[in-house]
Amino acid sequence: FFIAIEGGDGAGKSTQVEALARWVRDKGHEVVVTREPGATAVGQRLRSILLDVANDGLSHRAEALLYAADRAEHVESVVRPALARGAVVISDRYVDSSVAYQGVGRDLSATEIARISRWATGGLVPQLTLLLDISPETARERFTEAPDRMEQQSAEFHQRVRAGFLSLAAADPGRYLVIDAGQDAESVTSTARHRLDQVLPL
Ligand code: C5P
Repeated sequence: FFIAIEGGDGAGKSTQVEALARWVRDKGHEVVVTREPGATAVGQRLRSILLDVANDGLSHRAEALLYAADRAEHVESVVRPALARGAVVISDRYVDSSVAYQGVGRDLSATEIARISRWATGGLVPQLTLLLDISPETARERFTEAPDRMEQQSAEFHQRVRAGFLSLAAADPGRYLVIDAGQDAESVTSTARHRLDQVLPL
């Protein structure tokens, strides 16, 4: 069973991934927690290129292809093998992040980015996508560390990314659960657990 957790920077994805993984594991499932970009050895190198503040001039198309390369490697060497042995895979970001950030945020066309992603993944789609939705203003207040290349983007960029995620969710309501990530972490987890309880195989 494949679950993706999506949302803008500072939405609290990693906290939720950990909480949900613990809960699913306690129910007796094997859980594989993973993330994009950077879940594999090659992915780690791509991640450092993508997030390095020094790579400010990276072209948008090259950026999109590096995310796609990271994802191809991730799916082939981590996600598919785990699904094949029956594990529950929880991925911190997946295809929708590319559609929202590169497609809508960078204005490269959501349709084109979705097409590249489909090719990169061989068409692997999560059964459930949790979208942690938060306003970029609220999210920004949560940052304490030095910003990486992406976190230095403008407020307008992050607004577009948010709108991109929301329109993906609106187009495919059966696969998505949109959760207000401005709430406390406990409430977010319990909303997500409620949905997982309905869809997870026993
Ligand atoms: O989720 P995480 O913090 O690991 O993501 C790292 C950075 O990469 C974030 O700042 C996010 O905005 C950016 N990103 C992106 N396009 C993607 C995935 C992540 O710009 N497809």
